[in-house]
Amino acid sequence: MLDRRLRAFQQTARIEHVHQAAADRAELGDRARAARADRRPVHEAVDVVDRQPEAIGVVGVARDTLKDLDLMREKDLLERLMQEIRKPDGGLATYGEAQVRHALELGAVDTLLVSEGLRRSRAKLRCGNCGRESEATVEDAKPLDPCSNCGEDKMAVQDRRDVVVEFTERATTMGTRVELVSRESEEGELLLRAFGGLAAILRYRVT
Ligand SMILES: [Zn+2]
Repeated sequence: MLDRRLRAFQQTARIEHVHQAAADRAELGDRARAARADRRPVHEAVDVVDRQPEAIGVVGVARDTLKDLDLMREKDLLERLMQEIRKPDGGLATYGEAQVRHALELGAVDTLLVSEGLRRSRAKLRCGNCGRESEATVEDAKPLDPCSNCGEDKMAVQDRRDVVVEFTERATTMGTRVELVSRESEEGELLLRAFGGLAAILRYRVT
């Protein structure tokens, strides 16, 4: 499953359009959720009632239960993260894009928490005036900053990759568990707003 997903990501490694990136992310979310649901006995219950059209009401209840389980799981994960963060030494947790990227590169991440609300790309930029090239994280919906070298507003994107895809791919190669967190709970919103949409529960402390 992970290998297949990784190969799929590699095929989309050069994402040219934001729309494509957004579509990939939606699919990624669906697949991650489906994979999680597959591991749960309650999913079997949904399959059974799915085959009985007269049991529509029961299907609705089962689906709600699945959704509740997802939310409970997300809350649990965020609670675990917060418990670590609250420890005086920072505990086995880190957050924010740069810190999480660093920890991932070291292989120190046990569980990667990614907000489904994250709308950012890692972009290779080039200034149309002075030719300065740089790499930066850009918000998908926001205009680019002017060139840091000449100050002209002529930066153009050469290549961009969705941050969710990038981090998930990194995590997969390191045997890190990836959890996509919805925005449907207070905890989910906290992950997006307070931690930049990226946090990690660590295997060991990273300095
Ligand atoms: Zn420039």
